[in-house]
Amino acid sequence: MLPKVQSPKSRRMITLEVRRTARTTPNFTTVTLAGPELEHLLPTGFDQAVRLFFPRAGQAGLTMPTLSNEAWMAQVLLLPKARRPWVRNYTIRRVRPELGELDIEFALHGDTVACAWALGARPGDPAGVFDMGLTYLPPPDAERQLLVADESAVPAVLAILEDAPASLAAEVFLEVPETADIRKDVAAPEGVRVHWIARDGSAALPGRLTLDAVKQAALPQGRSYTWAAGESGLATGVRRHLVRDRGVPKSDIAFYGYWRHGRSSPG
Ligand SMILES: Cc1cc2nc3c(=O)[nH]c(=O)nc-3n(C[C@H](O)[C@H](O)[C@H](O)COP(=O)(O)OP(=O)(O)OC[C@H]3O[C@@H](n4cnc5c(N)ncnc54)[C@H](O)[C@@H]3O)c2cc1C
Repeated sequence: MLPKVQSPKSRRMITLEVRRTARTTPNFTTVTLAGPELEHLLPTGFDQAVRLFFPRAGQAGLTMPTLSNEAWMAQVLLLPKARRPWVRNYTIRRVRPELGELDIEFALHGDTVACAWALGARPGDPAGVFDMGLTYLPPPDAERQLLVADESAVPAVLAILEDAPASLAAEVFLEVPETADIRKDVAAPEGVRVHWIARDGSAALPGRLTLDAVKQAALPQGRSYTWAAGESGLATGVRRHLVRDRGVPKSDIAFYGYWRHGRSSPG
């Protein structure tokens, strides 16, 4: 099933540069991008995501696609490797239009192209973004919500909670690699209960402990909206459990495989 997406009303390729980086917690780093072209981004908040473009190691600069329609990917793939940028999906964690800045929070998971770029990013390095819209679209009559994420979608859920109305009632399950990655300062409405799950050296694949926790949770009754994202097995597992074991209508569940164990993101 294709995810339901609220596409941006208008968008274009935007070239920015790194303004600064900061280690958020041991397994997360935040890269702040900035530049005058940010005025072309229409911030929607919540889980608004972008395609993030950055140069491959050894490239002198960043070659951005010029097409701002669906043909951009073909254009990137047709570039010779010497000029083709890396492309990955990331969430806009925060945006500060008045300063022309946006933050992206990278979950660090090894020696991959995105993690290496985030860890090596220096002020002035080029990076590009292309708005992909948002997928957190709760119906107005949902009485309660269930939000589930592994570390790749923790930035999205934290942004959702910051932008949520004060009336939000939700059970939130967030998995991180270590206890030291748990945020103490989550800005969330009073009716939100956040359950942090830290793997802390467990051999479990990301998402597995959280799927178990959701299966065992006492979830309140009533019309609900679920948003689950992270490793593909977590997202599909949550949906399967809710539909099969709890009788939740499929239409009340939004689920997104942000990445797949053992597979690189295309691009
Ligand atoms: C809409 C959307 C929004 C996203 N937002 C964010 C975000 O804000 N922050 C964020 O950190 N991620 C986010 N992701 C996930 C991110 O795009 C993927 O994790 C991506 O694969 C990272 O690229 P990479 O170069 O590090 O690894 P890849 O080259 O894609 O993969 C290399 C290896 O790493 C593994 N891998 C990939 N991601 C992870 C992970 N998170 N943990 C463990 N192993 C992994 C793969 O299975 C593969 O074996 C988002 C994904 C989507 C679709």
